[in-house]
Amino acid sequence: MGEEEEEVVLSTVERFSSPGKGRGLRAARGSFSRGDLLLVAQPFSATLADDERGRFCDHCFARKDKLSHCGKCKQAYYCNAQCQRADWPSHRLDCDGLRQLGPQWTPGERVRLVARILIKLKMNKDKCASEGLLTLEEMESHMEELDNEQREAIGQEITALHHYYSRQLEIPGNEEMVEIFSKVKCNGFTVEDEELNHIGAALYPSLALLNHSCDHNCVVTFRGSAAQVRALREIKQGEELFISYIDLLYPTEDRNERLREMYFFTCHCCHCQSQHLDDKKLAIRELSEPPSPESVREVIKYSKFMVGEFRTAKRSKTGTELLEMCERCLERQASVLSESNVYLLHMAYQAMGVCLFVEQWERALDYGLQVIKQYCKLYPRLSLNVASLWLKIGQLQTNLDHTSAATKSFSKALAIMEVTHGKDHPYIEELRTAVKSRAGKI
Ligand SMILES: [Zn+2]
Ligand SMILES: [Zn+2]
Ligand SMILES: [Zn+2]
Repeated sequence: MGEEEEEVVLSTVERFSSPGKGRGLRAARGSFSRGDLLLVAQPFSATLADDERGRFCDHCFARKDKLSHCGKCKQAYYCNAQCQRADWPSHRLDCDGLRQLGPQWTPGERVRLVARILIKLKMNKDKCASEGLLTLEEMESHMEELDNEQREAIGQEITALHHYYSRQLEIPGNEEMVEIFSKVKCNGFTVEDEELNHIGAALYPSLALLNHSCDHNCVVTFRGSAAQVRALREIKQGEELFISYIDLLYPTEDRNERLREMYFFTCHCCHCQSQHLDDKKLAIRELSEPPSPESVREVIKYSKFMVGEFRTAKRSKTGTELLEMCERCLERQASVLSESNVYLLHMAYQAMGVCLFVEQWERALDYGLQVIKQYCKLYPRLSLNVASLWLKIGQLQTNLDHTSAATKSFSKALAIMEVTHGKDHPYIEELRTAVKSRAGKI
């Protein structure tokens, strides 16, 4: 197993056959309390996002100020010689390309992850430490359920894989590659930091056993490149462990559309059955003269259209143009939708992001406070989305010298993160130190 880290599977968790859901994971012996760590999964393979190089170690994803770069390409960064050595079999695939092309070496994150999976499969013929509960081979691919568009997208990724890696890698035949890409597509994880910024992609075979519920009882967070599963509430012996695969802000219909598209199933959890909070998430403004059903339908249609428009615009437009776009959209939405309506919230959240980008702190804070008020009502109490927004708000309040408000916001984030990340997580220690040093300055 070399320098690979052991997967920690607590003996209290076991694989079982979940009625109507295929395989699942459940509490085997005894019960769990809120915040308990149930499982630590090491990645089968992982890859750091292109634009995070230098901030995180390319191998273990530790966030550090002083990292040393690879002597050859000077593009990959490591904690120490040990991390560099452990990463070499994977990094070798990119090192030459990075040395010659620098940032122009862009195979794409999923393609790079798949290249790393292929090299690992070639090197380790035996089961890996990350396959403690489920092997890569056993993972679902849902290949037969791919529609033409999805197949085509995978086809393009296979072409990219050949283009970037055919000299360093023996690439299996097309059907086998479609299967591997499909597995990564529906089982891969985005590794995120405490503000939910995307820092990389990874595959954890054992975690593929965790089924989805919008009323989930567990959460996955990351410590470096290791994934940790923690209980969000009391879980009794025999009870299945669930995480959420999707953003829970959205109403039942939207959530299930997303689940079908990405994961090929419909959720029947109690929140989906009761359409929990859908009335608030889709609420219309209460006016003496209520808007006509037609104008409501039109604004919703427009809002959904703007989600995609904004995503595309982010690549080409300036901060000022983007902000104008958000404000025009928000104005139209506000005439019909209530302040808890998720389409309006989505745009207000985007507006906050643009204000952050153009460093308009006051405006960003206004949007942030508008959104968090509703987030606290619409998301579950221990939501990572809520914690990450409190962190952003705390940071803004700090920039604006609203010191005591900032301390309050950070404490709200901490209260959630102590459960979701564990009290000894480096992110929490960093945050506590920062809060203390600021408090000393008052
Ligand atoms: Zn490292
Ligand atoms: Zn290198
Ligand atoms: Zn559900």
